[in-house]
Amino acid sequence: MINIDLRDPFKRFKDIDPYKLFEGLKTPCYIIDVKSLKDNGKILKDIQNKTGAKILLAQKAFSNFNLYNVLEPYLAGTEASGLFEARLGKEEMPNKEVHVFCGAYRDDEFDELLKYADHIVFNSLNQLKKFGLKAKASGKSVGIRINPEKSTQKGPAIYDPCSKESRLGIPISKLDEELNDDLLNLIDGIHFHTLCQQNSDDLKITLDEVDKKFSKYFKNIKWINFGGGHHIVRSDYDIPLLIDCINYAKSKWNVDVYLEPGEGVVLNAGFLLTHVLDTYINNDYCFAILDTSAACHMPDVIEMPYLPPLYKADLEGNKIEVRLGGPTCLSGDNIGKYKFMDYPKENDLLIFGDMALYTSCKNNTFNGMPLPDIYVLNEDNSFEKLTNFGYNDFKYRLGKIK
Ligand SMILES: *Cc1c(COP(=O)(O)O)cnc(C)c1O
Repeated sequence: MINIDLRDPFKRFKDIDPYKLFEGLKTPCYIIDVKSLKDNGKILKDIQNKTGAKILLAQKAFSNFNLYNVLEPYLAGTEASGLFEARLGKEEMPNKEVHVFCGAYRDDEFDELLKYADHIVFNSLNQLKKFGLKAKASGKSVGIRINPEKSTQKGPAIYDPCSKESRLGIPISKLDEELNDDLLNLIDGIHFHTLCQQNSDDLKITLDEVDKKFSKYFKNIKWINFGGGHHIVRSDYDIPLLIDCINYAKSKWNVDVYLEPGEGVVLNAGFLLTHVLDTYINNDYCFAILDTSAACHMPDVIEMPYLPPLYKADLEGNKIEVRLGGPTCLSGDNIGKYKFMDYPKENDLLIFGDMALYTSCKNNTFNGMPLPDIYVLNEDNSFEKLTNFGYNDFKYRLGKIK
C-alpha cells in the first residue's frame, strides 16, 4: 500500500469550512480547485524559467479541459496518449505544443493525428519505419521511446515499464541490431518514461543509465523527453537535483528537455464529495457505505492501490476505525480503513482529497453507478457546475437507444 505524504491536501480549507461551502451539493461530485492548480503551476513555471526546460500536462492523468486555460500560463503544452487526447490538447490549449506517445499508431488515424501533434513518439522501429517519413514530411518532430531497463520503482509491477518483458520502449539491444543511418536520420528526439510518483534521485539514476547505454546515438538529436512520474510539487521533492539533471542533458547533448508529468501538475488539486448512505457493525467491524465507489470513481485506489486522504479522518485522538466502501456489489469495492472521532452517521458529508488526478478521466458506470458531476472551485470560493450527468450517460454507452 503506497500512502504518499503530500503537501496538505486540505490546505484549501484553512480559512473556509468546506461542510458549509458544499452544503446541499448532490453527491458524489468532484471539485477541481483553481487555487491549487495555480500553486502547482507556479512551481513548474519556476523550474522552466530557471532551466529552459519545457513541461507538458500528461492528459491521461487529468483531462478536465475547462481548466486548461488555468494551467496554460504555466505549461509548454499537453502530452497525449493517442488521437483523442491529442485532439483535446490541440482544441483546448491551442497555442501550445502537443506531444503524442502511443504504443502503436493506426493507419486510419495517422493523417488526422498529424493535424494535432507537434512531436510524435514511436514505440518500435517498425512504427518508425512505417510512419516516420510521413511525419517528417508534414513538419513534425519525430522521436522514439527507449527502455533504459533500469528499474527504480518499488511499487506495483503494472507501473514499471523497465523490465525485460516490458512492451514499452525500445531496448538498447534492439537499437544495436537494427538502427541504420536512414532510421537514425529520422530521429529528432528521445523519450523515456520509467517513473511513477518518484523523486529526482530516481530520475538521476535513470538518466545516468540512458547516458551510459544510449548516448552513442545522441549526436544529432534535438530533444530529450524525460516522460512523467515526477512528483515535482510534493513537499519532499528535490527540485535542485531535477534542475541538475535537466542542465546535464542540455549541456551534454545540446538538446531541449521536456517533462510530461500528470500527477505532478494536478497533485492535491481536487476533492471528491460523498455522503454516507448507511453504517453498521458486523463481526465487530464498523462499516460505512458511501454514495461513491472506489471501482467507478477512484479506480486507482484499487489498481495502485492507495489510501486516499479523507478530511478530518486519521487525526490524532480519532479512535473509531471505520471501513469505507461503495454501494456496488463488488466485494472489493473498498476505499479503506479510516480513524474517525465519532461513528459516522447516515447523510454525513465526507471529503476525499487529492482527487483531481486519475479520477474523472478514468470513471466508469459499472453497476449502473452514476458519473459524479464535476465542479470548479474558484479562488474566491464561488463554484461552477461543469457537467450534468445522468441516466443517459450510462445508457448511451451500452447500445442503440430506440
Ligand atoms: C502516464 C504517463 C505520463 C504521466 O505520468 P504521471 O505518473 O501521471 O506523471 C507521462 N508520459 C507518459 C508516456 C505516460 O505514459
